[in-house]
Amino acid sequence: MKVPPGFVYRSNAHGDVFEARGPEGAVAWGFSARNARPAEYKRAVMRSQRVLRWVAPVQTHSSRVTEIGRDRVREKAFLARGCDALWTRCPGTLLSVKTADCLPVGIFGAGAVAMVHAGWRGTHKQIAFETVRRMSRSMRTNPGRFRAVLGPAICRKCYEVGPEFARIFDRRFLPRIAGKPHLDLAAANRAQLEAAGISRSRITMLMICPKCRNDRFFSYRAEGRGAGRIISWIVMTGDGGFC
Ligand SMILES: [Zn+2]
Repeated sequence: MKVPPGFVYRSNAHGDVFEARGPEGAVAWGFSARNARPAEYKRAVMRSQRVLRWVAPVQTHSSRVTEIGRDRVREKAFLARGCDALWTRCPGTLLSVKTADCLPVGIFGAGAVAMVHAGWRGTHKQIAFETVRRMSRSMRTNPGRFRAVLGPAICRKCYEVGPEFARIFDRRFLPRIAGKPHLDLAAANRAQLEAAGISRSRITMLMICPKCRNDRFFSYRAEGRGAGRIISWIVMTGDGGFC
């Protein structure tokens, strides 16, 4: 697993945490392993990262992006409807998504953080690109100041898709493996982040596949409908800032 420069990495049976302190505040992000019990896991993350509020989208495979602004800083935990990506400039606000093979994308820098849920539908609708564009426009900042991390998601070897995908995805992201098309979700999202203005050197791909590593992570393709979900999160842990 790749750890971006400047980050401290910690791992235990319940998950992985990456923490960094930079000129624009402290950022932490991580994800749960299958041994984690959701309620206990959330409590532990909130304590260790000094989280003031936990926000998650009601995921619907859309490309809609919502900013969690200072109007909601008094709420401790809530679900944001009508979106699959969240971003915030309010320190202490944790953003999370739940996945089991879909790709969680964390974006951070310039005093903001974002968390994106990108399955094939959201990827097709360009949700990662849209998130960077919305953030940089609202903040009037160069998207080149952001960094991004692509969390645990199904690898291209495990993600066989039907021939109809050739109509909606570029061939670059549909490698043929054993004669059949496979979708490279991570590569497609990295391309969107690059198109939005984040250079490749600022994008970390963890390359962890929940199906290949089903011993440690939940995978829909490995376990079917009953599969649990990986909780991925990001938070600006620093004080001050926008809110
Ligand atoms: Zn795999």
